[in-house]
Amino acid sequence: MCQSCIDQARRQFLTRSALGLAAGALTVTGLQLPAVAAAVPPTTLKPDEALAKLKEGNKRFVEAPELCEADMLKRREKVAQGQAPWATVLTCADSRVPPELIFGGLNLGELFVCRNAGNTADIATLGTIEYGGEHLGSPLIVVMGHERCGAVKAACEVAEKGTKLPGFIGPMVDAILPAAKAEMGKEGDFVANVVRENAKRTAEKIGTESEIVKHLVDEGKVKIVYAVYDLDTGVVDFIG
Ligand SMILES: [Zn+2]
Repeated sequence: MCQSCIDQARRQFLTRSALGLAAGALTVTGLQLPAVAAAVPPTTLKPDEALAKLKEGNKRFVEAPELCEADMLKRREKVAQGQAPWATVLTCADSRVPPELIFGGLNLGELFVCRNAGNTADIATLGTIEYGGEHLGSPLIVVMGHERCGAVKAACEVAEKGTKLPGFIGPMVDAILPAAKAEMGKEGDFVANVVRENAKRTAEKIGTESEIVKHLVDEGKVKIVYAVYDLDTGVVDFIG
């Protein structure tokens, strides 16, 4: 938390204490009201505007990384009753690739995020992306792979050497195998090529297998792009 957030939180706490509304006071009756989803209008950003905003955020991250520059408490209160994210990001579970940070210190309620090792589109991910586009009105879908991805490295080993992976890791990595097989023997770094190809194929899969997303894309309401994040420089390269 940055200093501005700490100051803001302190002010907020003092105000609440003065009004007798210290944290927890509202739930002491034992009555928990069911959460009601308030209707929040979707973002007004067009797909290309959302993409430009992500690029601008990544530039900010690369030039002047900041862990927390926003007032998160105020924001939390603002979005508690509903969300209207302006971009959907499918990326790797890798701890070095948190989208909210690498797109410039974004706050609560801005990105609709799906993550799994290797950023593949299984049923849960496809359903999540459909929900983001259809229900929440997110105008942009970004599939973002990253440099030196462990899941992709594993898929490369399976493709090259027939390595057997334990537990559910094997079937999980199977989703990356078509990209690995397609890139075997090609010029350049094998893993880097597969990272790019896997992101591309995942983006294509979302656009072809999901009728809902396909429809949104045809209507011009949603755009799908793919990108690769550079762990060393922090730059997100939007490829297609
Ligand atoms: Zn990864």
